[in-house]
Amino acid sequence: MKGKILIVEDEAAIREMLGYTLMKNAYAFEEAADVDQAQEIISRDKPDLILLDWMLPGVSGVDYARRLRNNPETKSIPIIMLTARSDETDKVRALDIGADDYITKPFSTKELLARIRAVLRRSDQDKAQGLIQVEGLTLDPETYRVTANEETIEISPTEFRLLQFFITHPERVYSRTQLLDQVWGQNVYVEERTVDVHIRRLRQTLAPYNYDKFIQTVRSVGYRFSSK
Ligand code: CA
Repeated sequence: MKGKILIVEDEAAIREMLGYTLMKNAYAFEEAADVDQAQEIISRDKPDLILLDWMLPGVSGVDYARRLRNNPETKSIPIIMLTARSDETDKVRALDIGADDYITKPFSTKELLARIRAVLRRSDQDKAQGLIQVEGLTLDPETYRVTANEETIEISPTEFRLLQFFITHPERVYSRTQLLDQVWGQNVYVEERTVDVHIRRLRQTLAPYNYDKFIQTVRSVGYRFSSK
């Protein structure tokens, strides 16, 4: 089996289609029709990935994703949001609350499988990477924790990914487009100014610890991480 996937989707027909696709492609899976069922399954056996419907009865998929991210037990389980909306703001919102990717219904089997593979690959790489450290600043890709001289820094998932990319690619200048591709993924259509917004937030987050100076603006080119 290539991994265990939890499907959280209230529409039985879509759940069935997803389950069939996963089974045919050697993934193990479990199904939940709402958040309560999903919680029950997760507490019993943690999945490698969650396919989470945006619109669910009761607690919505978005609220549930946020809840999963805020819980130390579940915050590192990758999430792909499934949605009928194709709004750009929704995509940004999904990624901001910590979803790893976003698929708009109706989607092809090929697209679904490609995204699952990509997210699982990234999750494996994060786990293999271990702790990343620079000058007293430490990132733990498995738990999304950042500490500055042992003190925990509150950081959003997008800022975490941005910081992780910078720290692992120091002393090189990246354009906004390159950062979008690397941090948000090539399939996500986010405007370039979104990068500036997140850079600003990341600097604000790091400023009390004096690490904001590591994130440098390179005029008319982009940004660079430098601890020198
Ligand atoms: Ca639904």
